[in-house]
Amino acid sequence: MLHIEGLVKTYQAAAGALPVPVLDMDSFYMGEQEQVALIGPSGSGKSTLLNIIAGIVRPTAGTITFRGHHIERLTEPQLDRFRAQHIGYVFQSYNLLPGFTALENVLVAMRFSMMAASSAEQKQRAAELLSQVGLEHRLQHKPSQLSGGEQQRVSIARALANRPALVLADEPTASLDSANAEKVFRLLGDACRANGAALLLCSHDVELVRQLGRVVPLRELTAAAFAVTAGVGVGGGVGVGAGASRSSVSDSREVG
Ligand code: ADP
Ligand code: MG
Repeated sequence: MLHIEGLVKTYQAAAGALPVPVLDMDSFYMGEQEQVALIGPSGSGKSTLLNIIAGIVRPTAGTITFRGHHIERLTEPQLDRFRAQHIGYVFQSYNLLPGFTALENVLVAMRFSMMAASSAEQKQRAAELLSQVGLEHRLQHKPSQLSGGEQQRVSIARALANRPALVLADEPTASLDSANAEKVFRLLGDACRANGAALLLCSHDVELVRQLGRVVPLRELTAAAFAVTAGVGVGGGVGVGAGASRSSVSDSREVG
């Protein structure tokens, strides 16, 4: 479903400044409905990678194909449509609209993609999604009347509103205490599975994401992805093929 090849991202902080490499990945592949955690410390390029996949940030080089379509070749209006149709996003800081209820926050997300559905159908789906994340009794609450964990659960329902093929979650539990983080983490995985969406989650919390099917350290992305593609599992097969050699290049530059 998602296939990244030769992805490079460099940032130039100011005109004339040296470009700073942030990402240098040889190859990464994710299947439909797969759940993958990318782990890496702060500044390792996790948010940048998710933003490139969502078409918010342009890559410096490389190809990103989503169900066979090249994201890096899309125009801005095409990217807007691509995001609305195929991508759900969950942020660390929830990013809910403060003046709207939980139900309305989910409904607003449907505006752009579920044109064909009647407003009654949309309302029913929004309520269903909120019920899936355990908020059936909080439909009319505004964000300020909800706990952090509840707000993040609304944002999970919102991310799934348009039946996306892929949910991108950027440190979705980093603002929560450990009990709530655990609960929200599990709900996110369950809700994506129940709605047929793949999940690509970024985190620096190794302990928490351990339960996910596949955990990929960003630094070792090239070697790990190569091993998975070759069918030998994460951590195996390092040292063979083009993947491993590129990985060592990025390691020596202290990026990734
Ligand atoms: P993470 O999400 O893993 O903490 P980020 O993707 O946010 O990492 O950032 C990776 C690196 O890229 C950091 O060193 C950051 O300072 C740099 N960076 C991110 N965005 C920009 C930008 N717009 N301009 C310049 N540097 C950036
Ligand atoms: Mg980040």
